[in-house]
Amino acid sequence: MKILIIEDEPRLNEFLKKGLEQQGYVVDSAMNGSAGLELASVGSYDLVLLDIMLPGQNGFEVLENFRQFEIKAPVIIISALSNADRVIEGLDKGAIDYIKKPFDFGELMARIRAAVRRGDAKNFTKYSIGNFHLDLLSRKAWMGDQEIQLTKREFGLMELLLLRTNRIVTKTEIAEKVWEVNFDMGSNVIEVHLSQLRKKLGNADLIRTKVGTGYYIEGELIKS
Ligand code: CA
Repeated sequence: MKILIIEDEPRLNEFLKKGLEQQGYVVDSAMNGSAGLELASVGSYDLVLLDIMLPGQNGFEVLENFRQFEIKAPVIIISALSNADRVIEGLDKGAIDYIKKPFDFGELMARIRAAVRRGDAKNFTKYSIGNFHLDLLSRKAWMGDQEIQLTKREFGLMELLLLRTNRIVTKTEIAEKVWEVNFDMGSNVIEVHLSQLRKKLGNADLIRTKVGTGYYIEGELIKS
């Protein structure tokens, strides 16, 4: 499940990002409404956490723009503005839930799980692009009908590249999200894993290299 955080308070933004990543979600974050809108328009998020008091366009304006640009991602508002008028305005503008700041992280997780149960937020578990398929629950991968045995890192790499379909994933991002700790950026361990992964996929073109920048997968990602 891929979540976008739009929150201008740096510490809360970072806290939410780290916390959600620890829960196994893939997370992007934006520090203002315009940056959030830009990410949401290309990112196909399963859920968006949206602050209201934001620099530039505020959260209500972001919601209106979501509607205008037909961005369908479900939105949970997280805001210190908690009077009834504000909550009503947020829900009327299309948010699926409204959580008052400060909130407990456990409560946020419960609200996210509830949104998934209600079907407001979809928790997709299968990704396909072309004839490559990845099952996040069984942690299995296939090229056509042929199952491919991936290591934990290789699986993590494919998951990240697929979630970022049509966007370049930098080496730094791979190091942070797939290796997480104690990664030596001077080493060539990512290149080695990628070359191994490409061999296993038997399709040299699936993962493309943008020289000096990073890696990407191109195409239409199908989630189910
Ligand atoms: Ca704010």
